Amino acid sequence: MVLKRTPLIAGNWKMNLDHLQAIAFVQKLAWSLNDAKHDFSTVEVAIFPPFTDLRSVQTLVSADKLEIAYGAQDVSAHDSGAYTGEISGQFLAQLDAKYVIIGHSERRTLHGETDDDVAAKVKAAIKHGLVPVICVGETAEDLEKHGQSAVPVAQLKVALDGLKADADVVVAYEPVWAIGSGQAATPEQAETVGAALRAVVAESLSADAAAATRILYGGSVKSGNIAGFMREPNVDGALVGGASLDIAEFAAIVRYQK
Ligand code: PGA
Repeated sequence: MVLKRTPLIAGNWKMNLDHLQAIAFVQKLAWSLNDAKHDFSTVEVAIFPPFTDLRSVQTLVSADKLEIAYGAQDVSAHDSGAYTGEISGQFLAQLDAKYVIIGHSERRTLHGETDDDVAAKVKAAIKHGLVPVICVGETAEDLEKHGQSAVPVAQLKVALDGLKADADVVVAYEPVWAIGSGQAATPEQAETVGAALRAVVAESLSADAAAATRILYGGSVKSGNIAGFMREPNVDGALVGGASLDIAEFAAIVRYQK
């Protein structure tokens, strides 16, 4: 059975745009995509604002019936309790968040998140009905020592361990050397790792899950290089950082087919 995967273009805002700026941004993005008659059923659009913006984004999206999905950039592995500074998946679900980014390389590097932490957060997200966007990727040093696929494959195996065969997840392949560097991977590199990651989904979950799971590429994606990535059979979208903060640029990435 070949399942159709709807491409997903996701904007990771990182620590940019406060809640007032977020409202203006989402309104303008919606106008821009509306003017361009964007069909959200052919390319899904999601944004990942800071936690403090989510309530405002929810209010705007529900009031204006926007088709833009949203999620958080991290989630706690715990449900509630004495975890100062953490945000529960339950709170995110109550704000109608659909997705949550887990294991972004900046969390792994700057906050010491391990593969086991990532796995625990993935389970917490799924428990609360959120779709985890699981980030994996090799550093420049890993690339030199172990080749391209070894580290992302190993990271994904841990992240998917113990999940149900039909778990709904998104995988984002983000080579650390390509994030914010202006030096994107080539479409061929993204395809090679994307195919290896899909094989992990098949092995860890099921063949049906592998056919349905979207594998995104992330790392210096721009309107000028998105089409090349999207032509690859094992690239089903992009996780966009810097370029997602520019409305015209992000809208152009969403409309990569045009
Ligand atoms: P970038 O970031 O598009 O700015 O390279 C991607 C990411 O960190 O998700």
